[in-house]
Amino acid sequence: MKYVVVSGGVISGIGKGVLASSTGLLFKTLGLRVTSIKIDPYMNIDAGTMSPLEHGECFVLNDGGEVDLDLGNYERYLNITLTKDHNITTGKIYSHVIERERKGDYLGKTVQVVPHVTGAIQDWIERVSKIPVDDSGLEPEVCIIELGGTVGDIESAPFVEALRQFQFRVGSDNFALIHVSLVPVIHGEQKTKPTQAAIKDLRSLGLTPDMIACRCQELLEVATIEKIGMFCHVGPNQVIAVHDVNTTYHVPLLLKEQKIMKFLSQKLRLDTIELTAESLQKGEHLLTRWKTLTANYDRAFETVTIALVGKYTHLKDSYLSVIKSLEHSSMKCNRKLKIEWVESSDLEEETKTSDLSKYHKAWHHVCQADGILVPGGFGSRGIEGMVAAAKYARESNIPYLGVCLGLQIAVIEFVRNVIGIPDSTSMEFDPAHSEETASVVYMPDVDQVKLGGTMRLGIHQTKFVKGSENAKLRKIYGGSEYVMERHRHRYEVNPKLISKIEAKGLKFIGKDETETRMELLELDDHKFFCGTQYHPEYISKVLDPSRPFLGLVAAASGILDDILAREDLSHKGDF
Ligand code: GLN
Repeated sequence: MKYVVVSGGVISGIGKGVLASSTGLLFKTLGLRVTSIKIDPYMNIDAGTMSPLEHGECFVLNDGGEVDLDLGNYERYLNITLTKDHNITTGKIYSHVIERERKGDYLGKTVQVVPHVTGAIQDWIERVSKIPVDDSGLEPEVCIIELGGTVGDIESAPFVEALRQFQFRVGSDNFALIHVSLVPVIHGEQKTKPTQAAIKDLRSLGLTPDMIACRCQELLEVATIEKIGMFCHVGPNQVIAVHDVNTTYHVPLLLKEQKIMKFLSQKLRLDTIELTAESLQKGEHLLTRWKTLTANYDRAFETVTIALVGKYTHLKDSYLSVIKSLEHSSMKCNRKLKIEWVESSDLEEETKTSDLSKYHKAWHHVCQADGILVPGGFGSRGIEGMVAAAKYARESNIPYLGVCLGLQIAVIEFVRNVIGIPDSTSMEFDPAHSEETASVVYMPDVDQVKLGGTMRLGIHQTKFVKGSENAKLRKIYGGSEYVMERHRHRYEVNPKLISKIEAKGLKFIGKDETETRMELLELDDHKFFCGTQYHPEYISKVLDPSRPFLGLVAAASGILDDILAREDLSHKGDF
């Protein structure tokens, strides 16, 4: 196993995740099997209990793991399926060590950060790196490890020390370190001092960078590269420049141009791994497809505008997978994507009274959009604005996709305005509401007291119902009998109202494996008005977009019929 650690210095949030996944992709183009691990030095066991407004979206895996959003990057770029153990947090490591201590595993010993915690981290990495993550079912050959935060933080110290020891455990032919740094431009001059300081910190902790990836706004000047090489004691071929590009999908090619694989192949002795002609060919095919995709992106000149009506719009990362799914879909439709961010509460009557211009601006964005998306969310703030947006989309024949909460919103709107129960809502927002008239109710099998990791989570089957053959959502999935998608919710559509709702034209065309829970909805006689109780954004891939999102974007671009006529819609993974 070859381990490539990606760490960061200077500041966080400079695209370590994109760099790490792009590097992983380049290993894949060589025909290698690649996996990845994300280390998050926070105390939480997982990302499930953190606010999306503080930490960005909580990503959900097949096994129900609620993990850091960077795991989504890896799954999307590398087309792999990770497990909750691929996200290591301080919380997980400490509870593992403490549990072992209570069992008596360290009997007679004083349990310490070094060597016990650092040892547990290394064992964890070695164990998890071997889990097969792709269709081959075989052990991966390369493991990318992204260390969250910046080196030098108190929080990440045990992980840095574990990785320092790890390079000796696995041997230097099997370990490479890429340190991501920032080169700011001050008064027109590219400044190298922050990078020098970051590398000094790294070396003082016993780690040596094999490559220094410099993030900068503009192309890095040759003189800057040479200076970093000299002051940081590495060759100029070990300094790579990652300047801002119009889409992050260009980053793998940017790294390739700078021949990073040449250096890494030598350092990691990749020539010792025997590759079959088939895997080499697969790698080349992947590279060709990636190049075509980015070239097409640059050439697309028509724009599709989607209004994203949500409640966490102040931090775009709260909707990272949603944005990515829209991007993947737009690329498939040869459109440039424009997202209009609409904070749902701005669409409400209250804002009309308090800030008229904000209210009109928000509505202007909704009305100008080619399609409307209401994503997932929790809690009652902003709900009325979402309901108003769904009403507008339904009545004006504007393509609409509701994801999880967005599906529930579409049902609430329909029950209020078409069925005629004006005060109907979800019991999430009004727990005392009558169960007879609530549109959305608590699922009976969900824990109401313990909140960590207790929702209906992870991958479940959704079956299309009989008679749904002509539904757009079913067609866009290639006409399949069922789909497997990832869930994260506590509430469901009230089973008591189903027949009334369906009689008026809003059809539940997909149900869970027991055929009692409503999972997919589609409105008759509308361009595209759909909802999914699951989160299709979690399995969208760069080269294989999530189908409900593709449906929305295609409908919004006016090409849904063309897309539905494609014969390769059912070719999962190679569409
Ligand atoms: N809050 C809703 C529920 O728990 C929707 C969840 C979501 O959008 N992920 O059912």
